[in-house]
Amino acid sequence: MSEGAVKKEEKPRKFQAIRGTRDLLPPETALWNRVEQTAHEVFATFGFGEIRVPIFESTDLFARSIGAETDVVSKEMYTFGGFAEFSAKVGEGRMEGMLSEMSPEEMISLRPEATASVCRAYIEHNMQQLPQPVKLYYMGPMFRRERPQKGRYRQFYQIGAEVLGGSDAPAIDAEVIEMVMTFFDRLGLQGVQLDINSIGDRNCRPQYVELLRAALLKVKDKLGPDSQRRIETNPLRVLDSKLESEQAIIATLPRIADHLCEDCATHYAAVKHQLEIRGVIYRENWRLVRGLDYYMRTTFEITAKGLGSQNAVCGGGRYDGLVELLGGPPTKGIGFAIGEDRLILSLQESGKGAISADRDVYIAWMGERAHATAIRAAKDLRKAGFSVELPPVEQKFGKALGQADKLGAKYALILGDNEVSEGLWTLKTLADGSQVKYTEPDLLEYLRKQRAL
Ligand code: AMP
Repeated sequence: MSEGAVKKEEKPRKFQAIRGTRDLLPPETALWNRVEQTAHEVFATFGFGEIRVPIFESTDLFARSIGAETDVVSKEMYTFGGFAEFSAKVGEGRMEGMLSEMSPEEMISLRPEATASVCRAYIEHNMQQLPQPVKLYYMGPMFRRERPQKGRYRQFYQIGAEVLGGSDAPAIDAEVIEMVMTFFDRLGLQGVQLDINSIGDRNCRPQYVELLRAALLKVKDKLGPDSQRRIETNPLRVLDSKLESEQAIIATLPRIADHLCEDCATHYAAVKHQLEIRGVIYRENWRLVRGLDYYMRTTFEITAKGLGSQNAVCGGGRYDGLVELLGGPPTKGIGFAIGEDRLILSLQESGKGAISADRDVYIAWMGERAHATAIRAAKDLRKAGFSVELPPVEQKFGKALGQADKLGAKYALILGDNEVSEGLWTLKTLADGSQVKYTEPDLLEYLRKQRAL
């Protein structure tokens, strides 16, 4: 007898969603759909087309683009063996040490973000031959093994966009930012704050980083262990620190704006001017450096109300050079990613996440003939776009009206023997309890008019 059969008597295990993941349920999913639909509409008005990229890619793609030293790549990716290798080794009973035996080319990872995938797709499909720039947007789940907390999950959702190819005209940076702000405005997001910065390029950033490192070494003793370590690994990230005791010291550090090369300084000034022409309100934040390696020049971050410490809803910036780094032609690039979970949370916290009632019409029917009429009525109402609940078995009118109330229906359509034989249907408005009789066409007409109000 197999082991499974012996354990059969035991109480079955109660499964729960894995830590850091969660189910999104109705009615909240209606809000998710509204947000996504708004993104489709707004981005289309800016000439962006949707791209859908795979959930997993070669580990190497992320390591090379995001940077092997970043937390995202070195600590947070869900990585496993490529399928052929995996099954071969499982078949041989050699699970242990399997990952360490594999070369990076054989490994695949769940995507921690989508910019790398979009760049890979741009190269793979020779999109440089299309009219430039190519403007793409995406939405979907991303995966990072971070410490879960409010607004931070291991499976979370991003809505993002990328502009690839063409020039690096500052108007492109400004228009991408204008597009996100338009999207947030359309959703009614509250307390939106846009921070911008320029982090220079290959010409000027290395010198600034050295200057910063030298300045940090002088105050090393006054810094916490994380920042002390970053002096060596990535001094720019010290500027990200939220540690209270470090704030006064950070305020004295050299600022990149004073050390940009001429081209970067000109570009940054023009981006600001372009934002002003578009009426986009921004705040300059010299400490905004962004966590991922591939950014250069323009970086931006947007925060919103009601999110506590994880208040960034959008991060983005310019990444000229990334496509080339991934084996493509020299290509300009800029993009952003919105954290959809946080966006939804902020809308809910500020009362902008209200979703209309689930059902328009609940059909309360009694009797066989009324059932047949109810089925036809449901079909016609649904065809006209109304949401209809048709109970599968007969129930007393009192109980049916109670159910209609619980489901938040706006109307109850009452169909009994009288209604069917008279050809006059009773419509009860649940909010005020009023009842009116209509012929079938009049009823549809009435509901249509109400919906248009
Ligand atoms: P990034 O790709 O790190 O630039 O992040 C862009 C946006 O995605 C952030 O501003 C957040 O809103 C969101 N985000 C990043 N990581 C998470 C996470 N673990 N859980 C929820 N949202 C996240």
